[in-house]
Amino acid sequence: MKKFLIIANWKLNGSYNFIDKNLNIIKKINNSLNYCQLSISPPYVYLNYINNLIKNTSISLTAQNVDIHLKGSFTGEISVNMLKDIGVKYVIIGHSERRIYHNEDIDLISKKFVLVKKYGLIPILCIGETAEQKKNKLTEKICINQINSILKISNIKIFNNTIIAYEPIWAIGSGKIADINEVKKIILFIKKYIFSLNKEIIKNIYFQYGGSVNFFNINHFFTKKYINGFLIGKVSLTIKDFVLLIEKIEKSLYLLNRS
Ligand code: PEP
Repeated sequence: MKKFLIIANWKLNGSYNFIDKNLNIIKKINNSLNYCQLSISPPYVYLNYINNLIKNTSISLTAQNVDIHLKGSFTGEISVNMLKDIGVKYVIIGHSERRIYHNEDIDLISKKFVLVKKYGLIPILCIGETAEQKKNKLTEKICINQINSILKISNIKIFNNTIIAYEPIWAIGSGKIADINEVKKIILFIKKYIFSLNKEIIKNIYFQYGGSVNFFNINHFFTKKYINGFLIGKVSLTIKDFVLLIEKIEKSLYLLNRS
């Protein structure tokens, strides 16, 4: 059984104090989980510190970004091998905040995805539409364009053992959550597309949802088993809310597996 992957994306938040206060609580709840696995995605500078604190637990580390170069004169950048060195397992690629605020385009994101996979880490490809694109019914096109851009520089097998996170841009940090039927529709659409290219690897792709997930709005996500995890931004920064959310997800998965 694939465990449900909950990634806490701290974005540009956190401090040693924040980590020291909260990580023991996260470790404690992690010990009680049967259906979920947890991953923390702090700013780069705290990855190593957290890696030491989560040794001997099943909590993993996720990086928020990576450079496309392996070494050289690229001031301010971090390579995939450096991330590997400090125990990172997953790397978020193409988060909408990087696309919007750092002008990362579809080609750059494709290069990052391929590089991360080739160097043995697991890329999490974030894809999703803006409100305007949604209005113009472009969601499927936007998502498939990103996948095709990766296929242009690699082949379908690159998606084996990777994660695709459907994150509607209008839902991130906005308090608005996507309609479950629409999430289901887009995930099934992507799955069918990949399946049409390779019948085997689709079993080895995790699908996550991200965008304003919280304690009060997750119920409807557990009516069917087609989402394998959540990317959680805002709620992961308040430990009380994050723990309540994890407990609710765990309980919902328990009930779903019994039914
Ligand atoms: C995100 O940034 O990936 C995210 C899902 O954020 P939030 O939960 O705050 O919408």
